[in-house]
Amino acid sequence: MSATLIDGHGVAAAVREEVRRGVVRRCAAGYRPPALRVILVGTDPASEIYVRAKTRAGREVGIDVETSRLPEAVSASELGDAVAALNEDDSVDGVLVQLPLPAQLSPGDVVEALDPRKDVDGFHPVNVGRLIAGESGFRSCTPAAVMTLLAHYGVDTEGAHVVVVGASRIVGRPAAVLLGSEEGEGKATVTVCHKFTKDLARHVRSADIVVAAAGRPGLVTGEMVRPGAVVVDVGMNRVADARAARGYVLKGDCEFESVRERASLITPVPGGVGPVTVAMLLRNTLLAAERSAHPGPTAQAEAAAPVPVEGPDRPAAASGGPP
Ligand code: NAD
Repeated sequence: MSATLIDGHGVAAAVREEVRRGVVRRCAAGYRPPALRVILVGTDPASEIYVRAKTRAGREVGIDVETSRLPEAVSASELGDAVAALNEDDSVDGVLVQLPLPAQLSPGDVVEALDPRKDVDGFHPVNVGRLIAGESGFRSCTPAAVMTLLAHYGVDTEGAHVVVVGASRIVGRPAAVLLGSEEGEGKATVTVCHKFTKDLARHVRSADIVVAAAGRPGLVTGEMVRPGAVVVDVGMNRVADARAARGYVLKGDCEFESVRERASLITPVPGGVGPVTVAMLLRNTLLAAERSAHPGPTAQAEAAAPVPVEGPDRPAAASGGPP
């Protein structure tokens, strides 16, 4: 068997088109375009690439995206002030602080400083709590992307055994919650593996669906995967390669060729989960604008204008979470 490739770019394009239509509807109803503000600290090359990709994708669907750049040596209080100013700014719907941060800054503190109503990355404890409680809130973008890819390819998770390899706060654990939610769309039985798991292969072999998110290139091999399993490879690892123009290639957490021989469906790296993650950020930004109590001067002038609520940009669909 050779697995069918999941086309992350195609799924992302479909989601972006939904968002674009949502933005057009909002603007036609007199609201300003959704506004996303990114805080980028320092000049980490990977972060520069991610921020450029988010900016381009956002602007293409009509979202107003701007980046505030802060120096590498910025203090926690200066960064806190920058976050607070965006929290207070009624012309801003979504705020994200690009991670990782320099060593002197605590990502947890920065995330907690965000207004949860503007936390379009879905990392704030309030949004994490809402996810666990099955309440509406911003879903972390990568786990939401996993759900969207599975749904798009008609993978039925109800009653399936899903093994999530990786238990991080931003990927593994929220993905496990979404997949295992009885009330939401997941309805799967979920096993979460991490670096302390004994005999990873035994767990992975028992999975109908494998979600690999450990940040270890080639960790999941073909012989660990049950024939016919669906494999979602979240891993995005830079592996040195002197032949590549940049000196590295991107590899997932799966040994692609051997896993592809066993699986029925598989996401490639790159071109699988990554583009859909960016699309989920745009969806969350539109959702933030729709929920905002401060839609902006144009809207205030036309306060009587109805806000369109039908369609795929409603909160449940936007979150990838429970209805
Ligand atoms: P992390 O380092 O925060 O967490 C890694 C998790 O994997 C931990 O729970 C750890 O215990 C577990 N782990 C490590 N080695 C393991 C092993 N040998 N066996 C089992 N579990 C093991 O990483 P993260 O932020 O969750 O990211 C994971 C991967 O996903 C990375 O490659 C990252 O680049 C990628 N990522 C991709 C996207 C995307 O949009 N495609 C988004 C976020 C992260």
